[in-house]
Amino acid sequence: MNNIDMRSDTVTWPTPEMRHAMAAAEVGDDVYGEDPTVNRLQEAAAQRLGKEAALFVPSGAMGNLIALMTHCQRGDEAILGDLSHPYIYETGGMSALGGIQPRTLRNQPDGTLDLEDIRLAVREDDVHFPISRLIALENTHNRCNGVPLKAEYIAAVGELARQHGLLLHIDGARIFNATAALGVPASELVAPADSVTFCLSKGLCAPVGSVLCGSADFIRRARRIRKQLGGGMRQAGVLAAAGLIALDVMTERLGEDHARAARLAAGLAEISQLIVHPQHTNIIRFELAPDAKVDGQDMLAALAAEGIRIGYGGYWGFRIVTHYWIDDAAVDKTLAALGRIFAK
Ligand SMILES: *Cc1c(COP(=O)(O)O)cnc(C)c1O
Repeated sequence: MNNIDMRSDTVTWPTPEMRHAMAAAEVGDDVYGEDPTVNRLQEAAAQRLGKEAALFVPSGAMGNLIALMTHCQRGDEAILGDLSHPYIYETGGMSALGGIQPRTLRNQPDGTLDLEDIRLAVREDDVHFPISRLIALENTHNRCNGVPLKAEYIAAVGELARQHGLLLHIDGARIFNATAALGVPASELVAPADSVTFCLSKGLCAPVGSVLCGSADFIRRARRIRKQLGGGMRQAGVLAAAGLIALDVMTERLGEDHARAARLAAGLAEISQLIVHPQHTNIIRFELAPDAKVDGQDMLAALAAEGIRIGYGGYWGFRIVTHYWIDDAAVDKTLAALGRIFAK
């Protein structure tokens, strides 16, 4: 990567090993279920997540949408966080395309939903009410500073869901970051869930794709919704070949990204003009302190002049995301640049 791009881990290029595997991939028509590389990826993903079956999908947003549309009927209600990705960043797809009503609960700073809040949100059986169908969690939680949700909490939500006859979906776009941070296998983190999505195309470096996992029956129904949404792909083995390397190889190195994020966060915290939010995995959020002498746009421009790009979300502040293409030298260079910018 010829510049330091830390706006997101989605900017990651495929590795040289991925490009070779893509060029050599065995392919077939995946809408017919005949792409051997896609089938291998789906089997590997299902096994890794401890689910019966899996479906390769073009994006995480489509994976979440397919899951919600497979689980919910039109008019059903999905309980999810007010800072969750499906609610904020997926263009209202669940409502627009699925007719699903989001019932948002306040996300706690640790990315969780309060169990009592969930209990109170579940609808009684009453002709006036929509039917509560599903709870969705997010792990790691993007807007909550990339915090990983612990297995015990997820188990408690799973238990609550079962008690009320609700389904549980986990948006695990960065589930392997949670695994790296907590030292708990992904299969254990998602065991209570009826379905889970994870992204191959973020810190795992694959160019395209996410995987949706669940029971064999759920995936059979999900495959139809994927087709309905226009997500049926043909010789997708070219993409799945990179996905297999993402799953087998790249999941094992995410701790390195977390260590570099920790070093960046510690360096940022030394700059008194910045307010740095707690860092847990590969995401660092920060804001300018009220007495900062540097304007935010000027900071972004000064960084850009040195080939460094970071995320900016308006009043949500700034975001740095570490990934495969951010090495120790990039961390040093970024901290040095920020040191100069705020030296005034
Ligand atoms: C990135 C992301 C997604 C899906 O992203 P796509 O760009 O559609 O692949 C879903 N959930 C979370 C938490 C994410 O960070």
